[in-house]
Amino acid sequence: MQNAAIAALGLNWCYLAFEVRPEELRAALAGARAMQFVGLNLTVPHKSLAMDMVDALDESARTWRAVNTLRVEGRDRNRAWLPIHQFTHEPPDKVRLQGFNTDADAIVRSLREDAGLELRGKRVLLLGAGGAGGVAALKVASEDVAELFLVNRTPSKAASIAAEIRRRHPNVRIQLGYPRGEVDLAMNATSLGLAPNDPLPLDEQQFSLRQARTVYDMIYRPAETPLLRAAKAAGCRTANGLGMLLYQGAKALEIWTGRPAPVEVMRQALKKNIYG
Ligand code: NAP
Repeated sequence: MQNAAIAALGLNWCYLAFEVRPEELRAALAGARAMQFVGLNLTVPHKSLAMDMVDALDESARTWRAVNTLRVEGRDRNRAWLPIHQFTHEPPDKVRLQGFNTDADAIVRSLREDAGLELRGKRVLLLGAGGAGGVAALKVASEDVAELFLVNRTPSKAASIAAEIRRRHPNVRIQLGYPRGEVDLAMNATSLGLAPNDPLPLDEQQFSLRQARTVYDMIYRPAETPLLRAAKAAGCRTANGLGMLLYQGAKALEIWTGRPAPVEVMRQALKKNIYG
């Protein structure tokens, strides 16, 4: 999706994938800085490791405590930090890496645009408290939901996220475990559903999909997970995580270029790559 967008914007850039071992991340980032890459994306487990390895953190990275996007910046004569690709004539006197997080906003944008859901005042059940689930829980809470229910295989992880939410958003009612009655949204942030024979990510003895108006699965491959299939059969509105992937990438591209991302070009490229 990034290369399709880069072509659509007429930029002479190229987006490449590198496999980096966590113990080599610091060296890889130093290399990207030295080679003056325009920017980088990071995926697990590098998102949290990079927090201590960058020169500056945007507020988004500080808020969500994870870096998924890096911009290489140069310092100009006036001591202002600018994207490195803007230095076409005179080289910068210093180069730095600034870390951003585009994942959290992408969750809310995908819920709004792909599932037609505004979170304010809503009751939400979130399944999973790993990297993606933790960011989703904090972001959903920051959108002034009325009530948030957290369920995770390892309850202590959900408990520590709940404690953080109570500190940051005292107005949100947060509970561990399944809700009674209806919820506006049930969201899967576990990895259950990636493999074809995975069980559903929820305990059907404790929660029926008929209690959920909308079901969102962060998984996008397969396009229809067993959870989404069951949710459709129960009459729920559904969406998968493709939009999350798309919008975090679109925002990253905007951070690098300073220009609006060609979102539809990116969506089509992503669909073609993932679903054929
Ligand atoms: P992670 O940090 O490894 O967390 C995995 C989560 O799944 C944890 O809550 C874990 O529970 C739970 N889990 C794993 N196996 C389980 C099992 N057998 N039974 C019950 N729960 C189980 O991974 P992540 O990065 O948060 O990713 C989570 C999901 O989100 C993945 O499916 C990933 O593909 C998806 N994702 C999508 C996007 C997107 O752009 N659409 C972005 C990021 C992630 P424990 O805490 O008990 O281990």
